[in-house]
Amino acid sequence: MSIDTLADSTVAQLKAAYDKHGDKLIYPCALGSEGMVQIDLICHHVPGIRIMTLDTGRLPQATYDLIQQLRDRYNLAIDVRFPETQAVETMVHEKGINLFYDSLQNRKMCCGVRKIEPLRKALASMQAWITGRRRDQAENRAAIQPVEHDPVFGLLKYNPMLEWAEADIWTYIRENDVPYNRLHDEHYASIGCACCTRAITVGENPRAGRWWWEQEDALAECGLHVTSLLAREGESGDGI
Ligand code: SF4
Repeated sequence: MSIDTLADSTVAQLKAAYDKHGDKLIYPCALGSEGMVQIDLICHHVPGIRIMTLDTGRLPQATYDLIQQLRDRYNLAIDVRFPETQAVETMVHEKGINLFYDSLQNRKMCCGVRKIEPLRKALASMQAWITGRRRDQAENRAAIQPVEHDPVFGLLKYNPMLEWAEADIWTYIRENDVPYNRLHDEHYASIGCACCTRAITVGENPRAGRWWWEQEDALAECGLHVTSLLAREGESGDGI
């Protein structure tokens, strides 16, 4: 599929979702490379779509710089959501500032407080949300459908970037001079919190740069799209 065809298809899906849900549709963007393409398409073709992201308090400086770049480039005031101060303070007091390295349980607690709860709050009044998920990102994403019911939040979930491959994303970014996180140029594939993200080496799975001290493959899904994990774990939510 050509880049133009991919872009047209994504825009058509975004427009259809926006026509149906209006301001009850939101794009919680993790600010990855596919997110930059989708933001570019939204700003140029469906500017009414609400875009949000989460500031966990532990993001790399490069990500803050990117948020500012997006504002300058598109006049885009991304809705930046923060975790509850009291919840962060209590967690840090009880478990330590770098609790996530100590145990899986602590890492999940930190992601819960800093990501999942703020996202849950942001989605509470929504009918539908948009993701930047692509089929080629992981084997367990091969079965993703363009529109899905999200059993955790009880919302519709739109996946307009499904058919884009990694190479398509970067072609679009280069051809359209789209801003992106400069850490990608330092071999960071998937960028989250600074303390939980590292560069990868040639041939490594892109998700190997996240929570690398944990061994189980499934754990590397606890980024913006943890629906299935949370459902499996018996929680009632989803997260960024
Ligand atoms: S990625 Fe790391 S620092 Fe960020 S919320 Fe999860 S455990 Fe906490």
